[in-house]
Amino acid sequence: MNLFDLSGKVAIVTGGNGGIGLGMAKGLAGAGARLLIVGRNAGKNTAAVAELVQAGAEAAAFAADVTKEAECEAIAAAAVERFGRIDILVNNAGVNIRKQPEEYTLEEWQSVMDTNLTSAFLCSKAAHPALKREGGKIINIGSMLSIFGTSFAAPYGASKGGIVQLTKALASAWAKDNIQVNAVLPGWIDTELTREARTAIPVLNSRVLMRTPARRWGTPDDMAGIAVFLASRASDFITGAAIPVDGGYSAEI
Ligand code: NDP
Repeated sequence: MNLFDLSGKVAIVTGGNGGIGLGMAKGLAGAGARLLIVGRNAGKNTAAVAELVQAGAEAAAFAADVTKEAECEAIAAAAVERFGRIDILVNNAGVNIRKQPEEYTLEEWQSVMDTNLTSAFLCSKAAHPALKREGGKIINIGSMLSIFGTSFAAPYGASKGGIVQLTKALASAWAKDNIQVNAVLPGWIDTELTREARTAIPVLNSRVLMRTPARRWGTPDDMAGIAVFLASRASDFITGAAIPVDGGYSAEI
């Protein structure tokens, strides 16, 4: 028995059209899963699906905004309509707005919370009826800011701290449905999100290299293994956990 085989399984990856989401989607596809890639940008969705299909996967795209409840319901319905089932949900869509706490408008605060935290609740709720049919897996994406603080990302940190508690709540509630819910806490990963930060904060690159014991940035491909592990039967007795994938960042003071 291959503990990591995902043949026949169907995975939804929000924010799967680039960065960490696409890295995870490639891992899941490589293990045999069929993929529904979700993002707002239809062009990026099409390109990501083309890359997955080129690599031999069965994948489709669904353009949706995960901050909207009706669109989260439509995502789950689209997966069931296209593939007949949902086994794995990766709540990965996320954004950041960097400024000092006193400078955020309520609208900015709300948009970060809605994208990073409320969306995970909405998509999980929408997928729950299909996930519980045969048991399933939810993988929520946190951050080092799930455990550390910083002066320039108050709503992001609050949303990512919240992701860990949402993970524990869903894990507790849905254990009876044989649904395992875990969080992944990435360290500094080279994506569009952090490339933008690298430009805005010139010392960031050297700070990341100095602060990360592995002495390098992570890549989206570094996120594939944890996705496969948490989506497969290899992790059937692991639920409610928050697992750093960070090159040792959270291990060293
Ligand atoms: P990217 O900016 O590369 O990817 C973000 C993804 O989220 C895109 O696919 C984007 O697609 C999607 N997205 C954003 N808003 C919405 C929305 N409202 N509805 C649907 N999709 C949306 O960033 P990363 O890959 O770096 O980030 C992925 C996750 O990893 C985020 O949750 C982020 O917080 C987290 N993370 C990243 C770290 C890093 O170092 N890179 C570190 C720790 C955590 P589209 O624009 O088409 O909607």
